[in-house]
Amino acid sequence: MTLPDLLAIIPAPAERRLALRVTPAAQHALRTGHPWVFDQAITEQKGTGAPGDLAVIFDDRRKFLAIGLWDPTSPLRVRVLQHREPTSIDEAWLRDRLEAATTLRRTLPAAGVTGYRLVHGENDGLPGLVVDRYDATLVLKLYTVAWIPRLRALLTVLAAVAPAANVVLRLSREVASQDAHLFGLADARVLAGEVAGGIAPFLENGLRFEADVLRGQKTGFFLDQRDNRAQVGRLAAGKRVLNVFAYSGGFSVYAAAGGAPEVVSLDVSEPALAAAERHLALNADRPAVRAARHTILVADAFDALGELHRQKRRFDLVVVDPPSFAKRESEVSVALQAYARLTGLALGVLAKGGLLVQASCSSRVSADAFVETVQRAAARAGRPLRAVTRTGHALDHPIGFPAGAYLKCLYATA
Ligand code: SAH
Repeated sequence: MTLPDLLAIIPAPAERRLALRVTPAAQHALRTGHPWVFDQAITEQKGTGAPGDLAVIFDDRRKFLAIGLWDPTSPLRVRVLQHREPTSIDEAWLRDRLEAATTLRRTLPAAGVTGYRLVHGENDGLPGLVVDRYDATLVLKLYTVAWIPRLRALLTVLAAVAPAANVVLRLSREVASQDAHLFGLADARVLAGEVAGGIAPFLENGLRFEADVLRGQKTGFFLDQRDNRAQVGRLAAGKRVLNVFAYSGGFSVYAAAGGAPEVVSLDVSEPALAAAERHLALNADRPAVRAARHTILVADAFDALGELHRQKRRFDLVVVDPPSFAKRESEVSVALQAYARLTGLALGVLAKGGLLVQASCSSRVSADAFVETVQRAAARAGRPLRAVTRTGHALDHPIGFPAGAYLKCLYATA
Protein backbone atom coordinates (compact mmCIF):
# COMPACT_ATOMS: atom_id res chain seq x y z
CA MET A 1 0.00 0.00 0.00
CA THR A 2 1.28 3.50 -0.71
CA LEU A 3 1.80 5.88 2.16
CA PRO A 4 -1.22 8.15 1.56
CA ASP A 5 -3.43 5.03 1.41
CA LEU A 6 -1.85 3.73 4.58
CA LEU A 7 -2.38 6.96 6.47
CA ALA A 8 -5.94 7.22 5.14
CA ILE A 9 -7.01 3.94 6.72
CA ILE A 10 -5.87 4.95 10.19
CA PRO A 11 -9.06 5.84 12.05
CA ALA A 12 -9.19 9.41 13.38
CA PRO A 13 -9.17 9.78 17.17
CA ALA A 14 -12.67 9.79 18.72
CA GLU A 15 -14.44 13.13 19.28
CA ARG A 16 -15.63 11.86 22.63
CA ARG A 17 -13.19 12.20 25.53
CA LEU A 18 -12.73 9.83 28.42
CA ALA A 19 -13.13 11.30 31.89
CA LEU A 20 -10.84 10.12 34.67
CA ARG A 21 -10.37 10.59 38.39
CA VAL A 22 -7.02 9.72 39.91
CA THR A 23 -5.46 9.14 43.34
CA PRO A 24 -4.50 12.14 45.52
CA ALA A 25 -0.82 11.45 44.83
CA ALA A 26 -1.44 11.51 41.09
CA GLN A 27 -3.46 14.74 41.43
CA HIS A 28 -0.55 16.32 43.25
CA ALA A 29 1.89 15.15 40.59
CA LEU A 30 -0.31 16.56 37.83
CA ARG A 31 -0.55 19.91 39.65
CA THR A 32 3.22 20.13 39.62
CA GLY A 33 3.21 19.48 35.89
CA HIS A 34 4.11 15.79 35.81
CA PRO A 35 3.33 14.34 32.38
CA TRP A 36 2.44 10.72 33.25
CA VAL A 37 -0.58 8.93 34.71
CA PHE A 38 -0.16 5.22 35.35
CA ASP A 39 -3.05 2.73 35.17
CA GLN A 40 -2.83 2.07 38.91
CA ALA A 41 -3.42 5.74 39.72
CA ILE A 42 -6.80 5.78 37.98
CA THR A 43 -9.66 5.50 40.50
CA GLU A 44 -12.59 6.19 38.21
CA GLN A 45 -13.06 5.99 34.45
CA LYS A 46 -16.02 7.18 32.39
CA GLY A 47 -16.03 5.84 28.86
CA THR A 48 -13.58 3.68 26.99
CA GLY A 49 -11.23 4.61 24.25
CA ALA A 50 -8.76 3.51 21.63
CA PRO A 51 -5.08 4.47 21.66
CA GLY A 52 -4.77 8.16 20.81
CA ASP A 53 -8.16 9.22 22.11
CA LEU A 54 -8.13 12.08 24.58
CA ALA A 55 -8.60 11.59 28.31
CA VAL A 56 -9.51 14.43 30.66
CA ILE A 57 -8.43 14.13 34.27
CA PHE A 58 -10.43 15.88 37.01
CA ASP A 59 -9.57 16.51 40.64
CA ASP A 60 -11.77 15.65 43.63
CA ARG A 61 -13.76 18.86 43.13
CA ARG A 62 -14.36 18.01 39.47
CA LYS A 63 -11.96 20.70 38.38
CA PHE A 64 -9.95 20.14 35.20
CA LEU A 65 -6.43 18.99 35.94
CA ALA A 66 -5.03 17.82 32.63
CA ILE A 67 -5.76 16.35 29.23
CA GLY A 68 -3.67 13.70 27.57
CA LEU A 69 -3.26 10.85 25.14
CA TRP A 70 -4.96 7.61 26.17
CA ASP A 71 -3.01 4.40 25.69
CA PRO A 72 -4.88 1.33 26.93
CA THR A 73 -1.99 -0.91 25.78
CA SER A 74 0.49 0.58 28.25
CA PRO A 75 0.67 0.84 32.05
CA LEU A 76 1.63 4.43 31.30
CA ARG A 77 -2.05 5.02 30.55
CA VAL A 78 -2.17 8.78 29.93
CA ARG A 79 0.58 11.05 28.61
CA VAL A 80 -0.36 14.59 29.41
CA LEU A 81 -0.50 17.10 26.57
CA GLN A 82 -1.77 20.06 28.56
CA HIS A 83 -1.93 20.86 32.27
CA ARG A 84 -4.23 23.24 34.17
CA GLU A 85 -6.10 25.05 31.35
CA PRO A 86 -8.55 23.09 29.19
CA THR A 87 -7.72 23.45 25.51
CA SER A 88 -8.54 21.84 22.18
CA ILE A 89 -5.87 19.46 21.06
CA ASP A 90 -5.89 20.22 17.35
CA GLU A 91 -3.44 21.10 14.59
CA ALA A 92 -3.10 24.68 15.89
CA TRP A 93 -2.13 23.32 19.32
CA LEU A 94 0.35 20.92 17.73
CA ARG A 95 1.77 23.76 15.65
CA ASP A 96 2.36 25.87 18.77
CA ARG A 97 4.28 23.07 20.45
CA LEU A 98 6.37 22.30 17.39
CA GLU A 99 7.12 25.97 16.78
CA ALA A 100 8.33 26.36 20.37
CA ALA A 101 10.54 23.30 19.93
CA THR A 102 11.94 24.65 16.67
CA THR A 103 12.65 28.08 18.17
CA LEU A 104 14.72 26.54 20.98
CA ARG A 105 17.04 24.88 18.42
CA ARG A 106 17.15 27.71 15.91
CA THR A 107 20.76 28.74 16.56
CA LEU A 108 22.24 25.27 16.16
CA PRO A 109 22.78 25.11 12.38
CA ALA A 110 24.83 28.35 12.41
CA ALA A 111 27.10 26.64 14.97
CA GLY A 112 27.74 23.79 12.53
CA VAL A 113 25.15 21.49 14.10
CA THR A 114 22.67 20.07 11.58
CA GLY A 115 21.97 16.88 13.55
CA TYR A 116 20.01 17.54 16.72
CA ARG A 117 16.91 16.58 18.66
CA LEU A 118 14.02 18.69 17.46
CA VAL A 119 11.40 17.25 19.80
CA HIS A 120 12.41 15.66 23.09
CA GLY A 121 9.12 14.05 24.10
CA GLU A 122 7.68 15.09 27.46
CA ASN A 123 10.36 17.75 27.82
CA ASP A 124 8.98 19.61 24.80
CA GLY A 125 5.35 19.04 25.79
CA LEU A 126 4.91 16.22 23.27
CA PRO A 127 5.04 13.08 25.42
CA GLY A 128 6.03 9.80 23.84
CA LEU A 129 7.29 11.53 20.69
CA VAL A 130 10.88 12.11 19.65
CA VAL A 131 11.83 13.90 16.45
CA ASP A 132 15.49 13.98 15.52
CA ARG A 133 16.77 16.00 12.61
CA TYR A 134 19.72 14.74 10.61
CA ASP A 135 20.04 17.63 8.20
CA ALA A 136 17.59 16.78 5.37
CA THR A 137 16.10 13.82 7.22
CA LEU A 138 13.64 13.84 10.09
CA VAL A 139 13.28 10.70 12.18
CA LEU A 140 10.04 10.37 14.13
CA LYS A 141 10.28 7.90 16.96
CA LEU A 142 7.10 6.86 18.71
CA TYR A 143 7.14 5.51 22.26
CA THR A 144 3.34 5.06 22.37
CA VAL A 145 0.80 3.79 19.83
CA ALA A 146 -1.32 6.78 20.88
CA TRP A 147 0.52 8.87 18.29
CA ILE A 148 -0.46 6.60 15.40
CA PRO A 149 -3.96 8.11 14.89
CA ARG A 150 -2.34 11.56 15.00
CA LEU A 151 0.46 10.75 12.60
CA ARG A 152 -1.16 12.45 9.63
CA ALA A 153 -1.69 15.68 11.60
CA LEU A 154 1.86 15.47 12.85
CA LEU A 155 3.29 15.08 9.35
CA THR A 156 1.19 17.99 8.05
CA VAL A 157 2.33 20.35 10.80
CA LEU A 158 5.96 19.20 10.62
CA ALA A 159 5.99 19.85 6.87
CA ALA A 160 5.04 23.47 7.61
CA VAL A 161 7.15 24.10 10.71
CA ALA A 162 10.23 21.93 10.09
CA PRO A 163 10.31 20.96 6.42
CA ALA A 164 12.61 18.09 5.47
CA ALA A 165 13.26 16.14 2.26
CA ASN A 166 12.98 12.79 4.02
CA VAL A 167 10.90 11.52 6.91
CA VAL A 168 11.48 8.17 8.61
CA LEU A 169 9.27 6.44 11.17
CA ARG A 170 10.87 4.50 14.00
CA LEU A 171 8.94 2.63 16.66
CA SER A 172 10.02 1.63 20.15
CA ARG A 173 10.07 -2.10 20.77
CA GLU A 174 6.76 -1.97 22.70
CA VAL A 175 5.07 0.04 19.97
CA ALA A 176 6.43 -2.15 17.17
CA SER A 177 4.84 -5.19 18.79
CA GLN A 178 1.31 -3.68 18.79
CA ASP A 179 0.28 -4.87 15.31
CA ALA A 180 -3.41 -4.33 16.01
CA HIS A 181 -2.86 -0.60 16.48
CA LEU A 182 -0.34 0.07 13.73
CA PHE A 183 -2.63 -0.22 10.67
CA GLY A 184 0.11 -1.66 8.53
CA LEU A 185 2.81 0.80 9.63
CA ALA A 186 6.08 -0.67 10.86
CA ASP A 187 9.43 0.32 12.30
CA ALA A 188 11.89 1.84 9.80
CA ARG A 189 9.20 2.89 7.31
CA VAL A 190 10.26 5.79 5.10
CA LEU A 191 7.28 8.17 5.19
CA ALA A 192 8.62 10.74 2.75
CA GLY A 193 11.53 11.07 0.36
CA GLU A 194 14.28 8.51 0.08
CA VAL A 195 17.09 7.63 2.45
CA ALA A 196 19.81 5.98 0.38
CA GLY A 197 21.19 2.99 2.26
CA GLY A 198 19.32 4.13 5.36
CA ILE A 199 22.10 6.63 5.98
CA ALA A 200 21.45 10.29 6.81
CA PRO A 201 24.54 12.55 6.79
CA PHE A 202 24.76 15.53 9.14
CA LEU A 203 27.19 17.82 10.94
CA GLU A 204 27.98 18.13 14.62
CA ASN A 205 30.11 21.15 15.49
CA GLY A 206 31.38 21.04 11.95
CA LEU A 207 32.39 17.37 12.13
CA ARG A 208 30.85 14.94 9.65
CA PHE A 209 28.70 12.05 10.79
CA GLU A 210 26.11 9.66 9.38
CA ALA A 211 23.10 8.37 11.25
CA ASP A 212 21.94 4.87 10.45
CA VAL A 213 18.30 5.95 10.64
CA LEU A 214 16.68 2.66 9.61
CA ARG A 215 18.73 0.14 11.61
CA GLY A 216 20.69 2.16 14.18
CA GLN A 217 19.99 2.30 17.90
CA LYS A 218 17.55 5.02 19.07
CA THR A 219 17.14 7.09 15.88
CA GLY A 220 20.58 6.24 14.56
CA PHE A 221 22.87 8.39 16.69
CA PHE A 222 23.23 9.41 20.35
CA LEU A 223 22.62 13.11 19.95
CA ASP A 224 22.39 13.73 23.70
CA GLN A 225 26.17 13.43 24.15
CA ARG A 226 27.06 16.26 21.74
CA ASP A 227 28.29 18.70 24.40
CA ASN A 228 30.26 16.01 26.19
CA ARG A 229 31.85 14.94 22.92
CA ALA A 230 32.88 18.56 22.30
CA GLN A 231 34.27 18.80 25.82
CA VAL A 232 36.29 15.61 25.34
CA GLY A 233 37.56 17.03 22.05
CA ARG A 234 38.80 20.11 23.89
CA LEU A 235 40.60 17.96 26.47
CA ALA A 236 42.11 15.38 24.12
CA ALA A 237 45.22 17.07 22.70
CA GLY A 238 48.27 14.85 23.08
CA LYS A 239 46.35 12.15 24.95
CA ARG A 240 45.96 8.44 24.36
CA VAL A 241 42.18 8.04 24.39
CA LEU A 242 40.07 4.95 25.07
CA ASN A 243 36.40 5.24 24.11
CA VAL A 244 34.46 2.50 25.88
CA PHE A 245 30.91 1.78 24.63
CA ALA A 246 31.90 3.77 21.57
CA TYR A 247 28.89 2.97 19.34
CA SER A 248 29.65 4.77 16.05
CA GLY A 249 32.69 6.54 17.48
CA GLY A 250 31.26 9.98 18.29
CA PHE A 251 33.71 10.61 21.12
CA SER A 252 36.53 9.08 19.05
CA VAL A 253 36.08 11.52 16.17
CA TYR A 254 36.11 14.52 18.52
CA ALA A 255 39.16 13.16 20.35
CA ALA A 256 41.05 12.72 17.09
CA ALA A 257 39.99 16.14 15.83
CA GLY A 258 41.08 17.58 19.18
CA GLY A 259 44.60 16.27 18.71
CA ALA A 260 44.68 12.83 20.35
CA PRO A 261 47.50 10.87 18.68
CA GLU A 262 45.95 7.50 19.59
CA VAL A 263 42.27 6.58 19.88
CA VAL A 264 40.79 3.17 20.61
CA SER A 265 37.05 2.59 20.12
CA LEU A 266 35.65 -0.35 22.08
CA ASP A 267 32.14 -1.74 21.63
CA VAL A 268 30.44 -5.10 21.47
CA SER A 269 28.72 -4.18 18.20
CA GLU A 270 30.73 -4.78 15.05
CA PRO A 271 28.50 -2.73 12.73
CA ALA A 272 28.70 0.18 15.18
CA LEU A 273 32.50 0.09 15.08
CA ALA A 274 32.47 -0.18 11.29
CA ALA A 275 30.50 3.08 11.38
CA ALA A 276 33.12 4.51 13.76
CA GLU A 277 35.83 3.79 11.19
CA ARG A 278 33.72 5.43 8.50
CA HIS A 279 33.26 8.48 10.73
CA LEU A 280 37.00 8.85 11.21
CA ALA A 281 37.49 8.52 7.46
CA LEU A 282 34.76 11.09 6.77
CA ASN A 283 36.70 13.66 8.78
CA ALA A 284 40.13 12.82 7.39
CA ASP A 285 40.28 16.19 5.65
CA ARG A 286 41.36 17.48 9.06
CA PRO A 287 45.10 17.01 9.62
CA ALA A 288 44.57 16.08 13.29
CA VAL A 289 42.13 13.31 12.37
CA ARG A 290 44.49 12.07 9.65
CA ALA A 291 47.36 12.03 12.12
CA ALA A 292 45.49 10.09 14.81
CA ARG A 293 45.95 6.33 14.98
CA HIS A 294 42.45 4.91 15.39
CA THR A 295 41.84 1.26 16.18
CA ILE A 296 38.68 -0.63 17.01
CA LEU A 297 38.12 -3.38 19.52
CA VAL A 298 34.99 -5.52 19.10
CA ALA A 299 34.49 -6.99 22.56
CA ASP A 300 32.51 -6.98 25.75
CA ALA A 301 33.66 -3.92 27.67
CA PHE A 302 33.95 -5.68 31.03
CA ASP A 303 36.17 -8.42 29.58
CA ALA A 304 38.21 -6.15 27.33
CA LEU A 305 39.06 -3.62 30.06
CA GLY A 306 40.45 -6.42 32.23
CA GLU A 307 42.43 -7.75 29.28
CA LEU A 308 43.85 -4.31 28.39
CA HIS A 309 44.93 -3.91 32.01
CA ARG A 310 46.73 -7.26 31.95
CA GLN A 311 48.41 -6.25 28.68
CA LYS A 312 49.58 -3.11 30.54
CA ARG A 313 47.90 -0.83 28.00
CA ARG A 314 47.38 2.60 29.53
CA PHE A 315 45.41 5.66 28.39
CA ASP A 316 45.41 9.30 29.43
CA LEU A 317 41.69 9.81 28.86
CA VAL A 318 39.06 7.10 29.21
CA VAL A 319 35.43 7.67 28.21
CA VAL A 320 32.88 5.24 29.63
CA ASP A 321 29.39 5.78 28.22
CA PRO A 322 27.40 2.58 28.74
CA PRO A 323 23.79 1.86 27.79
CA SER A 324 21.10 2.31 30.41
CA PHE A 325 21.59 -0.48 32.94
CA ALA A 326 18.34 0.26 34.82
CA LYS A 327 15.25 0.00 32.63
CA ARG A 328 13.18 -0.70 35.76
CA GLU A 329 13.24 0.68 39.30
CA SER A 330 14.13 -2.80 40.59
CA GLU A 331 17.32 -2.74 38.54
CA VAL A 332 18.78 0.42 40.08
CA SER A 333 21.06 -1.34 42.55
CA VAL A 334 22.33 -3.72 39.86
CA ALA A 335 23.00 -0.70 37.64
CA LEU A 336 24.97 1.03 40.40
CA GLN A 337 27.06 -2.12 40.84
CA ALA A 338 27.78 -2.16 37.12
CA TYR A 339 28.85 1.52 37.21
CA ALA A 340 31.15 0.74 40.14
CA ARG A 341 32.69 -2.23 38.32
CA LEU A 342 33.24 -0.10 35.23
CA THR A 343 34.94 2.62 37.28
CA GLY A 344 37.32 0.06 38.77
CA LEU A 345 38.05 -1.46 35.37
CA ALA A 346 38.51 1.91 33.67
CA LEU A 347 40.94 3.04 36.37
CA GLY A 348 42.88 -0.15 35.67
CA VAL A 349 43.80 1.23 32.26
CA LEU A 350 43.98 4.92 33.17
CA ALA A 351 47.50 6.31 33.39
CA LYS A 352 48.42 8.08 36.62
CA GLY A 353 46.90 11.55 36.65
CA GLY A 354 44.65 10.65 33.68
CA LEU A 355 41.13 11.82 33.08
CA LEU A 356 38.09 9.58 33.52
CA VAL A 357 34.87 10.65 31.80
CA GLN A 358 32.06 8.39 32.98
CA ALA A 359 28.41 8.78 32.05
CA SER A 360 25.06 7.30 33.03
CA CYS A 361 21.92 7.57 30.93
CA SER A 362 19.63 5.71 33.35
CA SER A 363 16.87 8.14 34.36
CA ARG A 364 16.21 6.06 37.46
CA VAL A 365 19.73 6.60 38.77
CA SER A 366 20.10 10.04 40.35
CA ALA A 367 23.14 12.19 39.64
CA ASP A 368 24.17 12.06 43.31
CA ALA A 369 23.85 8.28 43.57
CA PHE A 370 25.84 7.89 40.36
CA VAL A 371 28.68 10.22 41.36
CA GLU A 372 28.88 8.75 44.86
CA THR A 373 29.03 5.22 43.45
CA VAL A 374 31.80 6.11 41.02
CA GLN A 375 33.78 7.94 43.68
CA ARG A 376 33.43 5.11 46.19
CA ALA A 377 34.54 2.54 43.60
CA ALA A 378 37.58 4.67 42.77
CA ALA A 379 38.53 5.00 46.42
CA ARG A 380 38.20 1.23 46.81
CA ALA A 381 40.50 0.77 43.85
CA GLY A 382 43.08 2.96 45.60
CA ARG A 383 42.65 5.71 42.99
CA PRO A 384 40.52 8.40 44.69
CA LEU A 385 39.02 10.74 42.14
CA ARG A 386 39.33 14.46 41.99
CA ALA A 387 36.14 15.65 40.34
CA VAL A 388 36.72 18.22 37.64
CA THR A 389 33.15 18.85 36.55
CA ARG A 390 29.71 17.31 36.17
CA THR A 391 27.62 17.80 33.08
CA GLY A 392 24.35 16.69 31.49
CA HIS A 393 22.95 16.77 28.01
CA ALA A 394 23.00 19.39 25.31
CA LEU A 395 20.37 22.16 25.08
CA ASP A 396 18.28 20.35 22.48
CA HIS A 397 17.48 17.89 25.27
CA PRO A 398 15.64 20.30 27.59
CA ILE A 399 14.64 19.05 31.04
CA GLY A 400 10.89 19.33 31.45
CA PHE A 401 10.37 16.90 34.33
CA PRO A 402 12.56 14.95 36.75
CA ALA A 403 13.06 11.92 34.51
CA GLY A 404 14.09 14.34 31.74
CA ALA A 405 17.42 14.87 33.52
CA TYR A 406 18.61 11.39 32.65
CA LEU A 407 22.14 12.00 31.41
CA LYS A 408 24.85 12.46 34.01
CA CYS A 409 28.52 12.75 33.21
CA LEU A 410 31.40 12.99 35.64
CA TYR A 411 34.84 14.25 34.64
CA ALA A 412 37.50 13.37 37.19
CA THR A 413 41.23 12.85 37.43
CA ALA A 414 42.83 9.96 39.26
N1 SAH B 1 29.12 6.77 23.40
C1 SAH B 1 28.25 6.52 22.29
C2 SAH B 1 26.90 5.96 22.70
C3 SAH B 1 26.97 4.69 23.49
S1 SAH B 1 25.49 3.76 23.46
C4 SAH B 1 28.10 7.80 21.45
O1 SAH B 1 28.59 8.88 21.85
O2 SAH B 1 27.50 7.73 20.38
C5 SAH B 1 25.95 2.29 24.24
C6 SAH B 1 26.82 1.34 23.41
O3 SAH B 1 27.19 0.28 24.28
C7 SAH B 1 26.15 0.67 22.23
O4 SAH B 1 26.88 0.95 21.07
C8 SAH B 1 26.19 -0.83 22.53
O5 SAH B 1 26.50 -1.61 21.38
C9 SAH B 1 27.33 -0.90 23.50
N2 SAH B 1 27.32 -2.03 24.46
C10 SAH B 1 26.28 -2.51 25.19
N3 SAH B 1 26.71 -3.48 26.03
C11 SAH B 1 28.05 -3.59 25.84
C12 SAH B 1 29.07 -4.40 26.43
N4 SAH B 1 28.79 -5.28 27.40
N5 SAH B 1 30.33 -4.23 26.02
C13 SAH B 1 30.64 -3.35 25.05
N6 SAH B 1 29.71 -2.55 24.46
C14 SAH B 1 28.44 -2.67 24.84
